[in-house]
Amino acid sequence: MKMSKLFVQTLREFPADAEVVSHKFLVRAGYIRKLTSGVYNYLPLMWRVLRKIENIIREELNASGAQELLLPVVQPRELWDESGRWEAYGRELARFRDRHDREMCLSPTAEEVITAVARDGLKSYKQMPVNLYQFQEKFRDEVRPRFGLLRGREFIMKDGYSFDVDQEGLEKEYQNMADAYTRIFKRCGLETKMVQSDSGAIGGSVSHEFMVITTTDAGENDVFYCDGCDYSANSNHAVSKLPPAEVDGSKFGFNETKVVDTPQTHSIEELCNFLNIPATIILKCLVYIVDKKPVLALIRADKEVEETKLMNAVGGMDIRIASAPEIEELMVEKGFNAAKGFIGPKGMDGVTIIADETVKDMKNFVVGINQEDKHMVGANLDVDIPHIEKFEDIRLAQAGEICPQCGQPLKVTRGIEVGNIFQLGTKYSKPMNAMFLDKNGKAQPYVMGCYGIGVTRTAAAAVERWHDEHGILWPIQIAPYHVCVVPLNDKDEQQMSVAKEIYAKLMNAGIEAVLDDRPERAGVKFKDADLIGFPFRITVGKTISEGQVELKTRQTDSTESMTPEQAVEKVITKVKEVL
Ligand code: ATP
Ligand code: MG
Repeated sequence: MKMSKLFVQTLREFPADAEVVSHKFLVRAGYIRKLTSGVYNYLPLMWRVLRKIENIIREELNASGAQELLLPVVQPRELWDESGRWEAYGRELARFRDRHDREMCLSPTAEEVITAVARDGLKSYKQMPVNLYQFQEKFRDEVRPRFGLLRGREFIMKDGYSFDVDQEGLEKEYQNMADAYTRIFKRCGLETKMVQSDSGAIGGSVSHEFMVITTTDAGENDVFYCDGCDYSANSNHAVSKLPPAEVDGSKFGFNETKVVDTPQTHSIEELCNFLNIPATIILKCLVYIVDKKPVLALIRADKEVEETKLMNAVGGMDIRIASAPEIEELMVEKGFNAAKGFIGPKGMDGVTIIADETVKDMKNFVVGINQEDKHMVGANLDVDIPHIEKFEDIRLAQAGEICPQCGQPLKVTRGIEVGNIFQLGTKYSKPMNAMFLDKNGKAQPYVMGCYGIGVTRTAAAAVERWHDEHGILWPIQIAPYHVCVVPLNDKDEQQMSVAKEIYAKLMNAGIEAVLDDRPERAGVKFKDADLIGFPFRITVGKTISEGQVELKTRQTDSTESMTPEQAVEKVITKVKEVL
């Protein structure tokens, strides 16, 4: 490809709305352009990268025994009613009506459709196991589209689904996919961590996410991990043990239950200071709204609630912290008038109350009683809060707490989720009545797994991982082109003819090369080559009169002088090494 013909416009400045590196460079280097919020045009350079990622995924999945197909983007409501998700999915699902007033949606994922496909043709245990996957546009009306391709509204996903006759088969396929994923990301130049993750309200299910570890804002997930063993988990699933702490209020003189004045103590810190006590003997009570209903969460006041865990404990689909007016409404309904800081479980009959497991250990604690400027001290669970519905782990782990597997302190870092794998079991096959006949001729629901990879997100994650201040440092495997050949002076005949020769030789050897034939200054050409991120650059300059060109390796930022033949040989060898 000649640079003069390549459809790319690099920019001098970063786009004003870009917060993270991948978004900044992908726009500035001419890979993407925003069409509207969370929706991007993938320009030719981007499309080459995306197709390379797709091909790596395709090769590995095909080698693992999966088969590619393509499902529609438009899906009818009826299927979503069958699974119960039309109601449950919420506003991320983009819905519309066709001219016959039939309700439809844009695919955010395809469990319903693939289950219907299987139901149609997968009738016998003899046809199983089967694993089907596609590359398809997805649309999710994300609350906060941001970070360019990392969290778009329209994006490309590889979604795959497996069908097995039993749990044992599923587990085998799950491992098969986990292995394939590890190879896929490695081939994309990305080290990933496979971490345990939340799998929603369905008990017993297993799921893992593949995280690209980063320390920047682009990592939207907190990942807890242990250096002492292989434990690692998303914060929505991470479990920790607590180091010893004082949890008995009698050590602070609270030997009997009484109500004390605690004026203006709206925060835990204020309450601690006023009573001169540690937060570990305070029972914090938070109001959440789960599926539109209030829920009280009780937790030791030095700890935080993990919302996904709480939502799962309630068995809900949607959770958020209650607003001040919602708390007020609840207070009025129960005949109280306290505000934040004084809320407590007492008198909250009829409201679901979930307590963190560690609350069980607390004695003679301090707790709100729904009276302004007052708390109860010396309270105990059985006597003062008898109506807790459930004790469960609803606590957000913190770095330094203890690894549940080996006892070492947990660490935390950030991660970009590039893929995930999920044991669905019969979550879709059962309600959708998608059955096969087993060995004994008995109808059974498929035991399913699902496996996603964000293709566009993976490309962006690669930029997050591989860049410097000048631009992108693409791994060779997914670079749009392998090498850029730059004659320094396009008016110099010798430079031009050697550059063209090098370019032709590389192309003949199957190397993807760009010839920068533009009548631009050397500085401009170098800047663009760095910004776009060609893994190699061969510069033909004045030293060609001595038979020398310069080879630059972008990732190591190293340059060497050599003959044109040597440069061509070296690039061919390096590229063939990884492809
Ligand atoms: P997240 O927690 O980041 O929203 P998810 O759990 O909703 O992800 P899945 O439904 O499992 O994601 O989708 C599979 C893969 O698709 C994810 O692992 C991710 O790589 C990608 N993906 C999901 N949402 C987006 C998005 N808004 N933009 C780009 N890629 C996405
Ligand atoms: Mg999501």
